[in-house]
Amino acid sequence: MLNTLRKIVQEVNSAKDLKTALGIIVLRVKEAMGSQVCSVYLLDPETNRFVLMATEGLNKRSIGKVSMAPNEGLVGLVGTREEPLNLENAADHPRYRYFAETGEEKFASFLGAPIIHHRRVVGVLVIQQKERRQFDEGEEAFLVTMSAQLAGVIAHAEATGSIRGLGRQGKGIQEARFVGVPGSPGAAVGRAVVMLPPADLEVVPDKTVDDIDAELKLFQNALEGVREDMRKLSAKLATQLRPEERALFDVYLMMLEDAALGGEVIEVIKTGQWAQGALRQVVGEHVNRFELMDDDYLRERASDVKDLGRRLLAYLQEARAQSLVYADNTILVSEELTPAMLGEVPEGKLVGLVSVLGSGNSHVAILARAMGIPTVMGLVDLPYSKVDGIEMIVDGYKGEVFTNPSEVLRKQYSEVVEEERQLAQGLDALRELPCVTPDGHRMPLWVNTGLLADVARAQQRGAEGVGLYRTEVPFMIQQRFPSEKEQLAIYREQLASFHPLPVTMRTLDIGGDKALSYFPIKEENPFLGWRGIRVTLDHPEIFLVQTRAMLKASEGLNNLRILLPMISGIHELEEALHLIHRAWGEVRDEGTDVPMPPVGVMVEIPAAVYQTKELARQVDFLSVGSNDLTQYLLAVDRNNPRVADLYDYLHPAVLQALNTVVRDAHGEGKPVSICGEMAGDPAAAILLMAMGFDSLSMNATNLPKVKWMLRQVNMSKAKELLVEALSHDNPQVIHSSLQLALKNLGLARMIGPGANKTL
Ligand code: PEP
Ligand code: MG
Repeated sequence: MLNTLRKIVQEVNSAKDLKTALGIIVLRVKEAMGSQVCSVYLLDPETNRFVLMATEGLNKRSIGKVSMAPNEGLVGLVGTREEPLNLENAADHPRYRYFAETGEEKFASFLGAPIIHHRRVVGVLVIQQKERRQFDEGEEAFLVTMSAQLAGVIAHAEATGSIRGLGRQGKGIQEARFVGVPGSPGAAVGRAVVMLPPADLEVVPDKTVDDIDAELKLFQNALEGVREDMRKLSAKLATQLRPEERALFDVYLMMLEDAALGGEVIEVIKTGQWAQGALRQVVGEHVNRFELMDDDYLRERASDVKDLGRRLLAYLQEARAQSLVYADNTILVSEELTPAMLGEVPEGKLVGLVSVLGSGNSHVAILARAMGIPTVMGLVDLPYSKVDGIEMIVDGYKGEVFTNPSEVLRKQYSEVVEEERQLAQGLDALRELPCVTPDGHRMPLWVNTGLLADVARAQQRGAEGVGLYRTEVPFMIQQRFPSEKEQLAIYREQLASFHPLPVTMRTLDIGGDKALSYFPIKEENPFLGWRGIRVTLDHPEIFLVQTRAMLKASEGLNNLRILLPMISGIHELEEALHLIHRAWGEVRDEGTDVPMPPVGVMVEIPAAVYQTKELARQVDFLSVGSNDLTQYLLAVDRNNPRVADLYDYLHPAVLQALNTVVRDAHGEGKPVSICGEMAGDPAAAILLMAMGFDSLSMNATNLPKVKWMLRQVNMSKAKELLVEALSHDNPQVIHSSLQLALKNLGLARMIGPGANKTL
């Protein structure tokens, strides 16, 4: 059964459009279940009716014509109850409604299962049989499993249809809305440019071209290149392989012939598809055919075709490498955006970012916030390979993307973009003003940095210090560990640019989702694995080089503070302190005259919350990493879009933990700051100020917004809001009561467009 299921899903997945996908579903499910009818009804969101979209067994002429409201018929009942319905004789059921045009009167038994995607009913899958009989448990379970697996495929095919005009019958290209999670606030209207990781055939987008001859030529050159490589490879292995083994290369060469794969790709290019897209399509069809075969040997051949496809693609991409065209308002789209990709778009052309994978807490989103680029992450339903060149709207506040927007929507969003520009100008004027509440509470606002670009931005925005310098960022853009001297130069630049303001340098925090290409860490559960201080304590040579570089870099400036990430207990802190003292002794022995800098500990693991007092006694300051603390307290992966709606730093458990940390740190007479993304949320910042945090550290983009907000709210009012927030047990209630209170204070400006996701 499992095998049948897998095969059907695979076949449906490779269908070129929704109609074909549904056709395959009804045919294969009917076969697999030995029923006489299988039909799919999809809910049309515009009319709110379940429409018969495909059938095997009923009259095909009724496809697209027969439909029913949710309160009509058995299909409507399955859809509204969101449960399967298994009837021996459908006609006996009070909700039975008979549609003459389908010819279904012949069929007595009925089994229907809802098709649900992300909690939303998208349709109903039905099988019917002539004889009266109750479908057995196994059949019911199969249909339910089938429909659960198909829900995503159908949603995907529907979305593709709306984008490329291959959707429901008779409907062309339409505006479509995709929901992800907010990555970086702001709105953008622009054109999508799909960026691919090198030579990944599966993600090549469709693209129509005018100059077909040029594409054909590109493809011929690629063919020639691969042929030549194969011949060379075969010759090179002549001494190691027997002639029959080398025959594999002949098979490859044959596959490239005009009469085989090569010829098929050429035919597709002639229809106007670009060479890379044609290659993906043809290779995909061949691979699917092979993978569906029962014979192990033939199934294995799929990987040969894939390999050949990748080789051809590498040639095609090489030829194209220089020719990616970025419009003035580029919205960069990728399956998984990487920091390196951001750097590829020429300055001033990038207006928005869209990533299928990742969430608002991924590091690329953190960079986007630092750069002030509206971003939506986790758009798992976006058929991203189909969107190249189309118009798109990115709503980084709500975490939504619209493709092919209507005139009305485009106008609406263009106005938001313009409003934002004006708002930003207004906020610039705040730069020289202190962050002080109307009743006189002074709240220092610091910045988080990593890239060099952050330095200038932070200074423009009036930062009062660096609360978190993520040293892994310069490590991530290198090809090997930077030497002590190289690190010294990088750190010196940070310290000197902000001098005399303090700069808090965090020791290397790799692992989790922060990988160094030259130090790969492969783990089943990386966020609970070898991360942060655990790595550097196991590699004292890395830790010592880094802290020595920091200390030397601070000579004569003395504005360095050292921060330790991912501390889960006193033993780790003691070991790290011991190493820092050792490094300090060494650099002083070498003649560098530096005082011992303040050392702090990050509170980002629940264990540290409960040991705040003990940790505080041994350090000079504490800094809460609310990104990880929220992740670990709520057991919600900060990068997983499926659970992104559960990730909430206004959850009562998080608020209580933060309150405890401040109380306990102050109890030991130690200052405590917060440097997670929460601090950059203007509404959340009010609560943090009320808790008593000594400074808030955030991305430079949000700093003026937070300053604007705190300059309007009295500390006494902030305290009232905190008492109220802490009294609620439900995160939603906390969000809405905070929102209401700010609206009543006339502060809606910063919680409409321009604010973070909190409200
Ligand atoms: C945090 O966890 O809140 C934090 C500031 O560190 P990072 O986001 O770099 O893990
Ligand atoms: Mg962290």
